[in-house]
Amino acid sequence: MYLKSFIDAYISNGFDFQEAKTEIDFVLEVLFNYSYKDFLLNKQLTIEQIKKVQKIIDERVKTNKPLQQILGTAFFYGRRFFVNEYTLIPRPETELLVQEVINITKELGSPKIIDIGTGTGCIGLTLMLENPKINANLSDIQQEAIETAKKNALYHNILSGVKFIKSDLFENITDKYDVIVSNPPYIPLKDKNTLQIEVREYDSPVALFTKDDEGIEFYEKIIRQAQFYLNKQGFIAFELGINQADTVKKLLKKNNFYNIKIIKDFNSVERVITAKIKPSQ
Ligand code: GLN
Repeated sequence: MYLKSFIDAYISNGFDFQEAKTEIDFVLEVLFNYSYKDFLLNKQLTIEQIKKVQKIIDERVKTNKPLQQILGTAFFYGRRFFVNEYTLIPRPETELLVQEVINITKELGSPKIIDIGTGTGCIGLTLMLENPKINANLSDIQQEAIETAKKNALYHNILSGVKFIKSDLFENITDKYDVIVSNPPYIPLKDKNTLQIEVREYDSPVALFTKDDEGIEFYEKIIRQAQFYLNKQGFIAFELGINQADTVKKLLKKNNFYNIKIIKDFNSVERVITAKIKPSQ
């Protein structure tokens, strides 16, 4: 009964049954397009397949490395994305940001958007896949992230429609956009030790941390320059860290934004903020 041995490996390393089940489900889906349920319904694995799964689970439970990093794959908005040590593993909270931008862009015809700090490309690419009228530019400070986003664009057959820009925020940006979207780093470096080991040790530090104590360094930098890179009636949309909504709202107001909307996530955390640029006088 290999299912039992998979579960035992988790339980004996301090994971609970539910976690074990969810994780085994993930491994089986990524590797063989099977689910845990398929096994209960008597799908069989070959000896090689069992060994492969066991090896992955062993690495997972012994090192705490997230499965997405071990397998190089994550799911976002129902699609697969390649991930690696240079990119953040896409989070379910970020799907809310994407949903909000989809709502905004419905009214905009053929909008041009930029996803700043794109990482895997999950935000910008999902927007294009969900609304083919969107023209997306994806930027990141790390060349390795750009390469990963390109790989994901190729995997989803939209490589030729996407422009990739290696840029530290707006440094190499010359165009104007209808929407600026970003899930920037928002965890103060001083809070590093409060994070789960999976995040602290294995997510890209460039993607996570800010130098300031509030985690607002990147919101501030982006918001201060955003108006020069937005078309008339343009929008900005961010994912937020915990307790950052008020500060970011103030920054937006101070820099000519209005119509500010804040969206809570499934844990009632104010997670997404959107705003519109004021018409210039
Ligand atoms: N935009 C990417 C994502 O949402 C990366 C975000 C980041 O690295 N801070 O997953």
